[in-house]
Amino acid sequence: MSRNFKTLDDIGDVTGKRVLVREDLNVPMADGAVTDDTRLRAAVSTITELADRGAIVLILAHFGRPKVPSPEHSTAQITRPLSDVLGRAVRYVDWEGAAESVATLQPGDIGLLENTRFFGGEEKNDPAVVERFAALGDLYVNDAFSAAHRAHASTEGLAHRLPAFAGRQMEAELDALDKALGNPEHPVAAVVGGAKVSTKLDVLRHLVARVDHLIIGGGMANTFLAARGVDVGKSLCEHDLTATAEAILDAADAANCTVHLPYDVMVATEFAAHPASLRTANVHEVAADEMILDIGPAATEALADVLKTCRTLVWNGPLGAFETPPFDAATVALARTAAALTREGSLVSVAGGGDTVAALNQAGVAADMTFVSTAGGAFLEWMEGKALPGVAALAR
Ligand code: ADP
Ligand code: MG
Repeated sequence: MSRNFKTLDDIGDVTGKRVLVREDLNVPMADGAVTDDTRLRAAVSTITELADRGAIVLILAHFGRPKVPSPEHSTAQITRPLSDVLGRAVRYVDWEGAAESVATLQPGDIGLLENTRFFGGEEKNDPAVVERFAALGDLYVNDAFSAAHRAHASTEGLAHRLPAFAGRQMEAELDALDKALGNPEHPVAAVVGGAKVSTKLDVLRHLVARVDHLIIGGGMANTFLAARGVDVGKSLCEHDLTATAEAILDAADAANCTVHLPYDVMVATEFAAHPASLRTANVHEVAADEMILDIGPAATEALADVLKTCRTLVWNGPLGAFETPPFDAATVALARTAAALTREGSLVSVAGGGDTVAALNQAGVAADMTFVSTAGGAFLEWMEGKALPGVAALAR
């Protein structure tokens, strides 16, 4: 694969060099404990590789959204959890006296710098803040794809100031995304679901020109159904966007992209778990007091058949109101089909989005997908076809 960024394979001899490594360690905490250490675990490969190769590893990370420096936003509290996950010592390095502290570190040592956002200029990509960071290191490694949609001093500015490389996690994410949308094997299917069309207009516009099958589910499918003249009853529907939905359908037509809208749906008159009014309905038979809360079993089966003809799948957004059973049924069923096809080796499957990841975990198949991105905002901007500043700055 030809890549336009350098990785740790290109970084050369790092023995005794101070390597500034941007990680995303913005983990959720409660009562002083990390409640989900996914992000800490994701940082392990790059940090241990550099330390094992004799670098002095200096981790840059933001934590929360501090207005002013405060203990509750200090990275000091992540030092211990990170050290536990790494199985190695991690030294907390305050901004005050940072240079002196870093000077005492030996090859193979790991330091965690204080919150990058304690500098007001971090988020403004202020050259003075870039200098302040750059003065502590010889090389820069960006391992935080999830922060790459922001042009901040630690995510973008530094890449122009020091020799810059992608970390292992960043490398894996960029490779997976490239396989899914950059240079995918066709036919490509995209599943786009979720609550509203309005939050995913740019995603839909970008995808219709690139994928062979666009599968629309979730609340946003209702807006498309309404655009096609279907009465969606009390369903969540953005009626003011039906013209926009029509334009997207036309663009898909022009690009030879087949759009799949459900023809049967799960409806109920009240939004609750296992409601008494639950029934399967043809989309043309939704009553005025009913809501569409998931796509139906026939549509789900038809979509599984579509995936069986495809080589690549990119997925963002659940097909139904999956948090409330049984409206997770279609999402779980299609996720299991995608996972099975991926295990068989016939499908490359890449998924992302906060609720999408939760839904895949609920289906028990997250580990079976080719790649699951936890990057949220950065993943969505990539799905929109936008250049991410933190990634663009790594270009050779
Ligand atoms: P992601 O976080 O993966 O990008 P979204 O935030 O766009 O996904 O969408 C997820 C939300 O969409 C979920 O809260 C889900 O309940 C909601 N949703 C999906 N289908 C429907 C529907 N038919 N009616 C109402 N809400 C829905
Ligand atoms: Mg969401």
